[in-house]
Amino acid sequence: MTAAQGPVAIAVHGGAGTLDPSALTPEKEAAYRSVLSTAVRRGHAVLAAGGSAIDAVETAVRVLEDTPLFNAGRGSVFTAEGTHEMDAAIMQGNDLRAGAVASVQNVKNPVGLARLVMEKTDHVILSGWGAFEFAHQQKVALEDDEYFFDQLRHDQWQEVRGSTEVRLDHSTGEKKFGTVGAVALDAHGHLAAATSTGGMTNKRFQRIGDSPVIGAGTYANDATCAISCTGNGEAFLRAVAAHDVHALMLYKGLSLEEAVHIVVHEKLPPLDGEGGLIAVDKNGRIVLDFNCIGMYRARIDAEGEWVGIFR
Ligand code: ASP
Repeated sequence: MTAAQGPVAIAVHGGAGTLDPSALTPEKEAAYRSVLSTAVRRGHAVLAAGGSAIDAVETAVRVLEDTPLFNAGRGSVFTAEGTHEMDAAIMQGNDLRAGAVASVQNVKNPVGLARLVMEKTDHVILSGWGAFEFAHQQKVALEDDEYFFDQLRHDQWQEVRGSTEVRLDHSTGEKKFGTVGAVALDAHGHLAAATSTGGMTNKRFQRIGDSPVIGAGTYANDATCAISCTGNGEAFLRAVAAHDVHALMLYKGLSLEEAVHIVVHEKLPPLDGEGGLIAVDKNGRIVLDFNCIGMYRARIDAEGEWVGIFR
C-alpha cells in the first residue's frame, strides 16, 4: 500500500422516512445513536489506518446489518410469504467495479456477499436462489430464519398481511427506520459506496428495489462522489438517483451540495420519491440530505464525529 496522504471521510445511514419524534423514546433514540456511532467509527478506523474506502464501507454496513434495529441483514422486513429477501450492493470509484445481490435469503451479511460478487465473478448482480448457491460456494456465514425474526417487523407485516399493500418500514407503526448504507473517501483519494436492505414489508414476486441497482441506490466514481440512497425504491430506480448526482457534478460542474439538492428536492418528489441519501465527494465533503421528516445518519470528517436523526 502506498503512503496515505489525503483527507478521509465517512458517512452512514440507517434509513429515511416519516418518523414521529414523539414515538421515539429516549432509550430507543440512544440505541439508534449508539449503533450509528459504532458503525461510523469502525469504518473510520479502517480509513485512519490507511485502509481502503471499500473496506471501510463494508465494515460499517456489516455493523448495521448485525443489529435488528435497521431493515437490513438481521432486522430485515417480512415479505408477503413471511420470509426475508435481502438486497445489497457495493461499488468502488477507482475502477467502477461493483457487486450486488438481490432477493437473497439466509445470508448473514449481504454486503459481504455483494463484495464477493464484485471480486470473484465476472458479474455485477446475482439474485435469488443463484445468489444463495454462490453464498454457499463462497462459504459465507448463513443464518436460520429465526435469526431474522423480529417481533416489531412481524407486527408491521401483520398489519398488511393478506393485502397487496407494500410498505416502507420507516413509515409505519413503530416507525423503525430502514435500509442502511455507507460512503467513504480514503487517504489514497478513492471513493466507495455500499447499501443493504430487506426492502419493503409485504413485498411479493421477488420485488427488487433500488439498493442493489448500480446507479439507482448505490454509486461511486472517483471523478465525483460516492452515494447511498434510502427511501421508496421504485422512485429512486426511475430517477436513477445515485448516478444522477454524479452526472450533475460531472457534466454540469455542480458542487456535491447543489447536485444532491436537485435530486432529493426536485427530481424525486414528483415521482413520490420520499427519502434521502448520503454522499461524499473526492475532497472529503459530506452531504446528508432528505425530503422527509428524518434520516438516521452519522459522519466523521475533518470536523469530527456527528450523529443525527431529525433535521
Ligand atoms: N430503498 C429501499 C427499497 O426500496 C427501502 C429503504 O430505503 O428502506 O428497497
